[in-house]
Amino acid sequence: MLIVLLGPPAAGKGTQAKKICNSLSIPHISTGSILRQNISEKTPLGEVASLYINKGDLVPDEVIIAVVKDRLRQPDCAKGALLDGFPRTLRQAEELDELIQVDKVIDIEVSRQILTERVTGRRVCKNCGTNYHISVYTESNCNCGGSLQTREDDTEAALAVRLNNYDKQTLPLRQYYAGDNRLIQVSGIGTPAEVFERIKEALA
Ligand code: ADP
Repeated sequence: MLIVLLGPPAAGKGTQAKKICNSLSIPHISTGSILRQNISEKTPLGEVASLYINKGDLVPDEVIIAVVKDRLRQPDCAKGALLDGFPRTLRQAEELDELIQVDKVIDIEVSRQILTERVTGRRVCKNCGTNYHISVYTESNCNCGGSLQTREDDTEAALAVRLNNYDKQTLPLRQYYAGDNRLIQVSGIGTPAEVFERIKEALA
């Protein structure tokens, strides 16, 4: 089963991705996490990605498409995978369809105001990548002991660019996937468990 998670920044894609992957035993492929890891390891891919990511811009299609193609070829993807953050442009979606059969596309919907609140209060563990929100989590370290940081692209300025890119480049994918009944739209409002229940029902 190949699943794509769509939705604006901070819609809860990462949180839901972990739950879906645990329940279906498929790998979680987050293009944002792959890029951030390459930036912290200062790889050639990281050098390129850092020119775009902190400003909130998308990295070029050919760069990210090559990353995803390579990742989907790994043996752990033989029974499927969940793509989180890819595709984000029409060209990425078309190339993905040429590469593999996309079974379901889950689009998580959240209003603009809630996204801004979520992004400005989001903290990420440097060690394991778990997300927290300062309104509900008041410890200074992650459960794993890692320190919590604000993502460099979680500023209001970068968020404005990301939301603008999302509207222009990613929203058209709804129509692309709705056309042949692959699209599942789910409200991202509520607790992570409530949102996951909606996703499970929709996938069943
Ligand atoms: P969010 O969904 O909160 O914006 P991600 O972790 O998915 O965060 O992505 C962070 C950044 O990584 C994006 O703003 C973009 O710069 C880059 N990126 C991730 N996926 C893609 C993609 N499919 N195409 C282009 N850029 C991407």
